[in-house]
Order: sequence, then C-alpha cells, then structure tokens
Amino acid sequence: MSLLQVHDVYRFYHVADEETRALRGVSLSVAPGELVVLLGRSGSGKSTLLASLAGLDDPNGGQIDIAGARMSRRPEAWRAELRAEHIGVMLQSGNLMPHLTVLDNALLTGTLLGRPDEARARDLLQQVGLGYRLHAYPSQLSGGETARAGLVAALTHNPAVLLADEPTAEVDAETEDRVAGVIEAFVTQRDGPHCAVLATHSTRLARRADRVLTLHDGRWQDDSDASPSA
Ligand code: ADP
Ligand code: ADP
Repeated sequence: MSLLQVHDVYRFYHVADEETRALRGVSLSVAPGELVVLLGRSGSGKSTLLASLAGLDDPNGGQIDIAGARMSRRPEAWRAELRAEHIGVMLQSGNLMPHLTVLDNALLTGTLLGRPDEARARDLLQQVGLGYRLHAYPSQLSGGETARAGLVAALTHNPAVLLADEPTAEVDAETEDRVAGVIEAFVTQRDGPHCAVLATHSTRLARRADRVLTLHDGRWQDDSDASPSA
C-alpha cells in the first residue's frame, strides 16, 4: 500500500505570454518506511512537486492521494485540512513564525492539533544540534539553523508524510549526517506509517535514501524508478 500516490501530474504556469511547464506528467508512489530523495538542477520542478504534494499548490492535471485521500483538485480548505492531518512540510520559503521562538515554532502544529509534545520538540532540536537555540527567534538564526528549525517544526507533531526542501542546506557534513539520522528514524518508526520526500542538491543526503529520483525539465530522468521499493 502506498502512503503517497502521484499519477501523471502536470503543472503549467502562465506569466504574461510565457508558458512554463514546471511538471510534465510526473508519477510517483511512496510506501510506508520509505525515504525518497529528489534531485535535479534548479528549475527542474522539485519545489513545484513538493508544493503540490503538500496541497499548497494545485496541479493543472493528474491526481495526488495522501494516505488514501485525494489531495489534488480539491478546494483549498480541504487541502489545508488534509495537510494538517497527515503532512509535515518544510519549504525553502520558510515555515517558521517570526514572533515565536525555535521551541515554540516546533510546538505550534501540535498545539493547533491539541497535542503539543514539548519533550519530543526538545529531543528533536537536540538531535539536529539546536539544543542551544531553543529560545532564539528565527531572525537570529543562520541559514543552516533556519533549515533545521524548520525541519523540526515539520516533524514534531509526528505526521505520516514529511516533505522537505533542502533540509540540510548550509550545514557541515557531521550535522548533515545527524539530520539524515533523524529523518531515517522518523520514516522507520513503528507507531504508524511514515514516509519522507526530500528535495536536495546534496549527494551526501541522497546516499541515505531508499530511492533517488531525478527531475529534468519537469519529468523523471530515464533512470529514475518512481514505483515503491518496498
Ligand atoms: P530553487 O528551488 O532552485 O531554489 P526557485 O524555486 O526559487 O529556485 O526558483 C527557480 C526558478 O523559478 C527561478 O528561475 C525563478 O525565477 C523562477 N520562479 C520562482 N517563482 C517564480 C514566480 N512566482 N514567477 C516566475 N518565476 C518564478
Ligand atoms: P526547482 O525547485 O527544481 O528549482 P521549481 O519547481 O522552482 O524548480 O521551478 C520549475 C519551473 O517552474 C521553473 O522553470 C520555474 O521558473 C517555474 N516556476 C516555478 N514557480 C513559478 C511560478 N510561481 N510562476 C511561474 N513560474 C514558476
């Protein structure tokens, strides 16, 4: 059974007279326990795909199902509800509230869902090397710290699906390995089905994936296998 099912997704943008085909028939199936990494040069469609999976953007064609529920081509309120229920999302545009500390940002989604877990938030922040930044505000963080704080904010409420854009941006190799370890532990947890889809430029992070898929101009590169390995 797939936790995440993407069938023939298209996303065209129209700006003035220009048409950009950001996604051109992308299919993907991710099983529980899988860590999938998306590679592809800038502009290949990684961010667009993650935004569509998160229901933040809606494709022009195709279907996206999350935990058996249809995400694509649904009203925004429906997509937001499905996202809150099943998805943790960390995008490059940032998912941290500027007026909340790192710790309070980590607790935010769980608080909204009625189950804040401060012990888990502190533990995850410690594991990604932000134990000394609990009470800092986002504006005080470096780029690498922002990415890791954003990742923990996406993980603390323990969603089924983690979607993250460059979670190890601007960190050293040792820290990157710690972050990868946190994500691996997340997808293999036994408390329920979990999976992760990460966009990255890091081959070091890609080595930790169960599957590596490469986007090229909105399509999978030939050697990409978009069916689940499990
Ligand atoms: P990356 O994900 O590689 O960091 P971005 O997603 O920010 O890069 O941007 C990739 C390309 O998409 C850039 O060429 C940028 O100009 C273009 N782009 C992003 N957002 C828009 C937009 N709202 N309108 C037009 N082009 C955009
Ligand atoms: P990546 O994340 O791999 O860098 P993106 O998904 O950001 O790629 O971009 C894919 C293509 O879609 C690019 O050609 C980009 O310019 C275009 N694009 C992305 N967002 C927008 C937008 N909001 N409006 C117009 N074009 C966009």
